[in-house]
Amino acid sequence: MLPGPALAAPTEADWAAAVAAVRRLPADARVLLVCHVNPDGDALGSMLGFGLGLRRLGVGRLQATFPGPPELPEPLGWLPGLDLLVPSVEAYPDPDLVVCFDAASASRLGELVDRLDTAGDALVLDHHASNTGFGRLHLVDPGAAATSVVAEELLARLGVSLDAEIATCLYVALTTDTGSFRFEATTPAVHQLAARLLATGIRPGDISRRVFDTRPFGAVRLFGEVLGRAVLDPTAAAGRGLVWTYATLDDLARHHQRPYVLESLIDSVRCTAEADVACVLKQVGSDEWAVSLRSKGAVDVSRVAMALGGGGHRFAAGFTGHGDAQEVLGRIRVEVDAALIAS
Ligand code: AMP
Ligand code: MN
Ligand code: MN
Repeated sequence: MLPGPALAAPTEADWAAAVAAVRRLPADARVLLVCHVNPDGDALGSMLGFGLGLRRLGVGRLQATFPGPPELPEPLGWLPGLDLLVPSVEAYPDPDLVVCFDAASASRLGELVDRLDTAGDALVLDHHASNTGFGRLHLVDPGAAATSVVAEELLARLGVSLDAEIATCLYVALTTDTGSFRFEATTPAVHQLAARLLATGIRPGDISRRVFDTRPFGAVRLFGEVLGRAVLDPTAAAGRGLVWTYATLDDLARHHQRPYVLESLIDSVRCTAEADVACVLKQVGSDEWAVSLRSKGAVDVSRVAMALGGGGHRFAAGFTGHGDAQEVLGRIRVEVDAALIAS
């Protein structure tokens, strides 16, 4: 599947409709916040930051959740607002409003997807260019560096002022998706948002150390092994180069590590100078791999991911692959060649 027509930023009418959907909630309304499966810092941070904002507005019956097992990656297990979280099986079956965060498609909501139909209204906050337009109300800005950019603007339009707890959540989300302000989407507006968040008194050094720079020693050893088997294919993508590696469930077990530790593995692979495209295959089942793709710009990896059933952005994307690692890689190679950007 090729990307559809370019998505435009939300209009004033879109913002007004979203504000009205929150403002017209009755006093005893049940609001369900949902983010994408296997939540990352942006999914969880934008959801919890927005949830804390709704709580300040007086929304009392408020739940936050995500599909799959109710386990958090350790680096995110300390965020403010975690008391809003419930396991997906306990989520309101028919909330008055469901709000979705950082999910490009309904399938990313897993078993919670039915809430799009059972809820009184469905509002989608996202920033994926590949967003499919699911839900009724859309605040989808493909120009936004993170979903938290959209969440903060909606909070401001609802009259919620930032406090340190909300800001911590939104800062984690913003730094996750901008690679700590290193990626292309790091606009002046991103730094202005960061300034507003820091002005609440939060400590960026502490937050970054907890989220990005802390991992168990077993994970350090695991990275050593998995990086040691990385392969560079300089002929892929018409000579732009592809570097890749994989980690199995057995690798995790041998080093006594949980899957979340592999989320940052792609960052150690993508720095390879000789490759435009970097790829990490993380085994999640006997024949199933969570695949991370990164590009330096010659290849649009969102096209690769979408062609293989996933999604994402031009420089960062992913999908779920089936078969053995070599089979999945073979499919990636074909799509990488097709997704070369004409220069
Ligand atoms: P990751 O490599 O997991 O950090 O994901 C990079 C980007 O790809 C993120 O923007 C994700 O939202 C997107 N992505 C990853 N996996 C999938 C998937 N299975 N389906 C759709 N989008 C995905
Ligand atoms: Mn995400
Ligand atoms: Mn995001």
